[in-house]
Amino acid sequence: MLLFRQIAPLRAYIHQYRSGNKTIGFVPTMGALHAGHVSLVEQSIHENDLTVCSIFVNPTQFNNAEDLAKYPRTLENDILMLEKAGCDVLFHPDGAEMYPDGFVTQQYNWGPVTHSLEGAFRPGHFDGVITIVQKLFEVVTPDKAYFGQKDFQQCAVIERMVTEFDMPVEICIRPTLREADGLALSSRNTRLSAEERQEALLISKALYEIKAHRGNQTVGELVASATGTLGSGSLMKPEYIAIVDRYTLEPLESIDKPGDSVALIASWCGNVRLIDNMILNDSQ
Ligand code: AMP
Repeated sequence: MLLFRQIAPLRAYIHQYRSGNKTIGFVPTMGALHAGHVSLVEQSIHENDLTVCSIFVNPTQFNNAEDLAKYPRTLENDILMLEKAGCDVLFHPDGAEMYPDGFVTQQYNWGPVTHSLEGAFRPGHFDGVITIVQKLFEVVTPDKAYFGQKDFQQCAVIERMVTEFDMPVEICIRPTLREADGLALSSRNTRLSAEERQEALLISKALYEIKAHRGNQTVGELVASATGTLGSGSLMKPEYIAIVDRYTLEPLESIDKPGDSVALIASWCGNVRLIDNMILNDSQ
């Protein structure tokens, strides 16, 4: 695997590679890799001639200094995992490379897509996400870019970005990988104590319950039951439990088409903020 720390040599490499009419798949990450990230890399390898993964803990998407400082960083292990998966290129820039002095992030308001849910509880988060993904796309020029459904709203934001800016890249969204007990894999899980890890399970439990009862309860009842499930843990502090249209992210009053609706939860578990979601059809 080739490792690039700077934009210019990576750009030159990609430029040369492209002249051979080859396809490029791209997996942007913040590192602390787990099997969920690896599943994206493997899919990219399967579908493209060259796979580029980036690891960059993007400061502009953090609205909480402690969360940024405590974000796990495990570069050596990440490199081993990527090499084992067969990744071709790792781009691992530092902050100054991506944000030279004086760099100002733009602000984007695409309605509920950027401003509801994560956007409401993490102001500016998606401005940072859009900025960094846009910059990375410009360097890597991928044909396909891979994202996890785990970050459902992020996927919606990226799809909107590609449409807004006519970017010639196909966005490929891959299913959420879970632990055997249901907990969604997340880099932040490593920060959970044993007790918190146990309670974190309540998030996926609540989502599975919503899905199981979506046919015989109202949206209000489903949200109330999920609130009760999370409330059964003493360490859980939910920020939102929502059932929305999966395309517009507008709140739903009733679930007419389960495949068009998604339930999303964000909750603090002790000092760790976790998110998860489930599309309310049967095939997940
Ligand atoms: P992150 O490093 O957390 O920013 O995630 C990088 C990419 O991996 C994003 O597209 C995430 O949605 C995706 N991802 C994170 N967790 C999972 C998971 N459990 N299953 C599948 N993809 C994931």
